[in-house]
Amino acid sequence: MHRLLIGDRRPGGQGVIRVIEPARGEPFDEVAAAGPDDLEAAVAAAKRAYPAWAALTPVARAEILFRFADLVRAHGEELAVLEARNVGKPIGDARWEAAHVADTLRYYAGAADKFFGQTIAVKKGGLDITLHDPLGVVGLIVPWNFPMVIATWKLAPALACGNTVILKPASLTPLTALRLGELGLEAGLSPGVLNVVPGTGASIGAALAAHSDVAKIGFTGETATGRAIMAAASATIKRIGLELGGKSPNIIFADVDVQQAASEAAASVFANAGQDCCARARVIVERRIAAQFVEAMVAATQALVVGDPLAETTQMGPLISAGQRERTESYIGIGKAEGAHLACGGERLPGPGYFLGPAVLTGARPRMRVVDEEIFGPVVVVMTFETEDEAVAIANDTIYGLSGSLWTNDLKRGLRVACAVRTGVLSVNSSSSVHLQAPFGGYKQSGLGRELGMQAMDHYTEVKNIYFETV
Ligand code: NAD
Repeated sequence: MHRLLIGDRRPGGQGVIRVIEPARGEPFDEVAAAGPDDLEAAVAAAKRAYPAWAALTPVARAEILFRFADLVRAHGEELAVLEARNVGKPIGDARWEAAHVADTLRYYAGAADKFFGQTIAVKKGGLDITLHDPLGVVGLIVPWNFPMVIATWKLAPALACGNTVILKPASLTPLTALRLGELGLEAGLSPGVLNVVPGTGASIGAALAAHSDVAKIGFTGETATGRAIMAAASATIKRIGLELGGKSPNIIFADVDVQQAASEAAASVFANAGQDCCARARVIVERRIAAQFVEAMVAATQALVVGDPLAETTQMGPLISAGQRERTESYIGIGKAEGAHLACGGERLPGPGYFLGPAVLTGARPRMRVVDEEIFGPVVVVMTFETEDEAVAIANDTIYGLSGSLWTNDLKRGLRVACAVRTGVLSVNSSSSVHLQAPFGGYKQSGLGRELGMQAMDHYTEVKNIYFETV
């Protein structure tokens, strides 16, 4: 059984998490589950470790983070296999994610000594300067869809800025978080700088969010959980960063290469079996090419190789759990009852594991639940539009605003629509959502704050203004 990582101790926790392999529907490992006492010990360890870590020069912190990145790269295959087995994601995707984790650590190691304050010309004269102070102990609560990637988006800038960290992975996917913690120690992080406490959201996550010695919660997960964390954080005016749900639009204008846009549309929603906050789950296509587009998208969807995550050719694995598959199936049923047409998919694959054929629902309209709600499974809804204004109105007709794409060969229209769509990230003629060097985050109920890029450093520091009277 894998033990917790708290300071210089590896306690056995107060329960056991049986880690399931979704491709087989069976347990394949065991991890200790933290109890309330373990969380207290982790907060105390992080508090003890904070003064020395914060006092290191940024260059000294960077050296440790560069070593951490090198170790992740050296252990990339091991991390990728763990993630592929635990989440059910294709091994090729998991390898990209392990490399991205190393890149993220390198980026923030490099950022540590390039993040500094200002000298400000205030009216009174004298010298006015700003400093970036670390926050203290930060709690990082992450979901199960991209466990090591999302953990690193938070822990790398948090550590680079001089904070100490308590990382709570989702109980479904604790393995790579614990391994990252071990590699951090091997790289030279002092005990207590990075603690890892798998456990349930209801007990450990909620207690972390309410803890008076925790200065900030960096959270990724459902919008409903984000609301609970916001409420819990209010008691101590804790800083919070929230990366929440999405229902991202994919706007297709009639002037594009229909085959290419259709196959990109399929890939961008069915990656990670649709369990992706940035999944382009609402296709909004110009009516005069809709029939041709749907035909091409259904063909691209049916051509996806669904199967064993460890097989090199697999493009889509199983869903994370039996419950997530049932939830997705129930949404397909709701969509049909609401009047949408199931053009393909939705069938269970024979054999063990939580596999589900990727599904395309056409004839969708705003206010259908399958259009408004985040399904978080391999389902895309297709809607149509006549005018550019209508396309933008449909795209913006949602409580979410995380990501999105639009496809057109008209440069001016591309720019107009990109500016009008209310999302934190938008790609033109591309399905990409994440660039490590650029900010990532949501408008509206998709989140609060930004991750990645240099902006993440702002979110793990306080700005201090110091004024020197010189006359
Ligand atoms: P979730 O909200 O159920 O859980 C996320 C984490 O929060 C887990 O570690 C969980 O244990 C913990 N948690 C649960 N209840 C808690 C509480 N009351 N207090 C504190 N912690 C609690 O989300 P999930 O099902 O693991 O992940 C899927 C969701 O995450 C989707 O909505 C998806 O859109 C979102 N997501 C968003 C982004 C983004 O960057 N915006 C990225 C990935 C996933």
